[in-house]
Amino acid sequence: MSTTQTNKFEIIKASTSKINEVDFENLSFGSVFTDHLLECDYTNGQWQKPVIKPYAPFLLDPSVRVFHYGQAIFEGMKAYKDDDEALWLFRPDENYKRFNNSAVRMAMPEVPEEVFIEGLNQLLQLDEAWVKKGKGNTLYIRPFMIATGTGVIASPSNDYKFMIILSPAKSYYSGEVKVLIAEHYSRAANGGIGAAKAAGNYGAQFYPTSLANKEGFQQVIWTDDATHTKLEEAGTMNVFFRINDTLLTAPVSERILDGITRKSLIDIAEKEGIDVQIRPVLVSELVEASKNGTLKEIFGAGTAAVVNPIVGFSYQDVYYELPKTEDSMALRLKDMLTNIQHKLAEDTFGWTVKV
Ligand SMILES: *Cc1c(COP(=O)(O)O)cnc(C)c1O
Repeated sequence: MSTTQTNKFEIIKASTSKINEVDFENLSFGSVFTDHLLECDYTNGQWQKPVIKPYAPFLLDPSVRVFHYGQAIFEGMKAYKDDDEALWLFRPDENYKRFNNSAVRMAMPEVPEEVFIEGLNQLLQLDEAWVKKGKGNTLYIRPFMIATGTGVIASPSNDYKFMIILSPAKSYYSGEVKVLIAEHYSRAANGGIGAAKAAGNYGAQFYPTSLANKEGFQQVIWTDDATHTKLEEAGTMNVFFRINDTLLTAPVSERILDGITRKSLIDIAEKEGIDVQIRPVLVSELVEASKNGTLKEIFGAGTAAVVNPIVGFSYQDVYYELPKTEDSMALRLKDMLTNIQHKLAEDTFGWTVKV
């Protein structure tokens, strides 16, 4: 291992790389990690010097607050390599801002830009070989923060750990996704933490999703907690509906996460001249459109899968199957977005940032 000190970072290089043990053609999402990680601790009211070091398990006291009171947040972003082997990020400033918004909501300290953005750039340069060029190859980036202060006292921690880990990913086909529209359970509520990327939002979703899985549905479309009449998100993705040639999606709110894929797809669709309506979408509208044949597509949108087409939905024990589309708007928008991300199309929006 070799150690380099800069005035901002300490870099401890792994003595050997695991890269040759990895089958890049058969990656299961989020299960293989690169050689290094970034770690930065918050103690005594301030962020300490960030360290980039070999990926490895670490020890925690059993009483640390994250285990007991769930102060944990994360982000999900990707790096891409173009045909000239240059590395790119997609709208990283948006992830950075959202991370700190999540931190504020969970009473955690905001992470400085030089730790998050510069730290990520340093880490990516070190593990650059893990990003393969070619569309469909990406490096999934997982920044996260946990409360590491000890003591089972129900108050915010004084100490925190921020980390970034990296996982090579292949674009995945999720199979045919059928969804169940939530009539009882909720992902988020007004005044709650639905707009934060808090770990607990996911934990709370697992049980209702497992009930849906037992009935043969891969995901739940979450509805508003008060009335269960408005369609809000699909699983852990934002959700879009195509009725005739109009694209519909709910406005972001306290209950709906402000997805970067969502807003990028909206901008691309609008530029393409597609009629996009950002307004509450009612369950009754969806059922009606399915019955009269105007409902063409439903898809989820998020960084991991980019776009996830849905083949049918169930509501009040009735299953509504979507027609097969020749001219999928979901796939067309996905292609346009991934072309921008992989630098295969001109980035007229200025979203891509070179590492
Ligand atoms: C992360 C996330 C999304 C998608 O956000 P992107 O920025 O597009 O990845 C949507 N909904 C929920 C609940 C999420 O956690």
